[in-house]
Amino acid sequence: RRMSTAPAFQLHNQAFVNGNWVDAKAQNTFAVKDPATDELITSIPDMDEHDAEEAIQVASEAFKSWKRTTAKERSKILRKWYDLIIANQDSLAEIMTRESGKPLKESIGEIMYSADYVELYSEEAKRIHGEVLQSPVKSKEMLLIRQPIGVIGMLTPWNFPMAMIARKAAAALASGCTIVIKPAEDTPLSALEFAALGKEAGIPDGVVNVVTSSRKNAASVGLKLCTSPLIAGISFTGSTAVGKILYKQCSGGIKRIGLELGGNAPFIVFESADVDKAVIAATASKFRNAGQTCVACNRLFVHESIQEEFTSKLKNAISGFVVGSGLNANTNIGPLINQAQLTKVSSLVDDALSKGATAHVGGSPHSLGKLFYQPTLLSNINPTMLIYSAEIFGPVATVMSFKSEEEVIEKANDTPSGLASYFFSNDIAQIWRVAKALDYGMVGINEGIISAAEAAFGGIKESGMGREGSKHGIDEYTYIKYLCFGNL
Ligand code: ADP
Repeated sequence: RRMSTAPAFQLHNQAFVNGNWVDAKAQNTFAVKDPATDELITSIPDMDEHDAEEAIQVASEAFKSWKRTTAKERSKILRKWYDLIIANQDSLAEIMTRESGKPLKESIGEIMYSADYVELYSEEAKRIHGEVLQSPVKSKEMLLIRQPIGVIGMLTPWNFPMAMIARKAAAALASGCTIVIKPAEDTPLSALEFAALGKEAGIPDGVVNVVTSSRKNAASVGLKLCTSPLIAGISFTGSTAVGKILYKQCSGGIKRIGLELGGNAPFIVFESADVDKAVIAATASKFRNAGQTCVACNRLFVHESIQEEFTSKLKNAISGFVVGSGLNANTNIGPLINQAQLTKVSSLVDDALSKGATAHVGGSPHSLGKLFYQPTLLSNINPTMLIYSAEIFGPVATVMSFKSEEEVIEKANDTPSGLASYFFSNDIAQIWRVAKALDYGMVGINEGIISAAEAAFGGIKESGMGREGSKHGIDEYTYIKYLCFGNL
């Protein structure tokens, strides 16, 4: 099924501030395009730092009353939001696929995953408890309470246009914070629909605001969010390079910052592994969203005794992929998001091939359109190749072999990144050893897909700080206030 021009439903193509659909003050707009066809979907407001300033003020005003709502009130609104997301999943998925290129079934999956966060935090809101401490002094009582930190600026990426917002927004709202979101320029439409459903669910005006900007204005809007005295914290998901800029910008005001940055996930297959299951998991981890996920397995390390078997089975799995528009029901691999991504992936593969890598399948752009790349499997990778240490973010798997557990742990940890990691083994002692030895925030053990709203998602080292999801996601948006009652 191919959609012709415009989707059948009403698309929101204005920014969302104080509960209203608004244009940029300067009246500028930018184009949102379908990466599969390069067709214009719509034009939306290109907001600058002045528009951002207004949204921040609105959110700051709204915080005064939102922070006084009861947890139960916030919980009910979030639960309604969850119900509306579920009820509208088909139209949301169509928008998401059109602007991001991901296959429709992955869009549905992401919308369910987004809804999971909203549901989880509608429940968690009621459990933001304090503590009564054991005072060391008879005349004193000591308590800890949790309070919302204030207005949060959120900057989010295009690879999960709704989920990366939902996991932040739901936790922040549950905590009593208000928010200003700047979605990625490639995928702002899913963010706007998410906000629209929030309004329908009863989120008061000004509590959620969406400032849309082109890449040209992203830096100045980001700077405004990081430096405004009315902003209490920043939550960012995106590249490590931009994360470092935001971290610096936040230092002036000692602002809270949550960073979920790039990964370089190892996927290790030990000799005791179930090879068939490892192939299925590696395929899912690597090729979801055409490889454009920060938890995608980026380096496959396979024990030398099973490397040949693993590589040939992985090649078979990859050869079965259907590349095409995400709107076609049987598509597994859609287009990459934009020209910059395509160029990067393509040059990493070209560099590897020129230095002696073997392409078992793929190895070049796909003839289907300018943003399509062939699902690719490379072996004979060595450290002189750029692809050895780069985050690929494309449909390209690289297989390397290893001899010993010690050697592979060292290689797996030899990166500034520390987000997701994976390994397959059926040796129980080894499983425990390796799980503890991997310097990563998350470890998939005999599993390639680990994300869940119930779990704590996040990295160490240059992959970021803070956790999203689970009860720990609340910590990002609350502070502990210590109350000391004296002279009792
Ligand atoms: P990617 O390389 O995957 O596009 P980015 O980190 O560049 O990841 O983008 C993630 C988000 O950060 C997007 O919303 C983008 O607009 C925003 N962004 C890009 N550059 C800056 C910047 N200098 N300051 C603030 N935000 C930025």
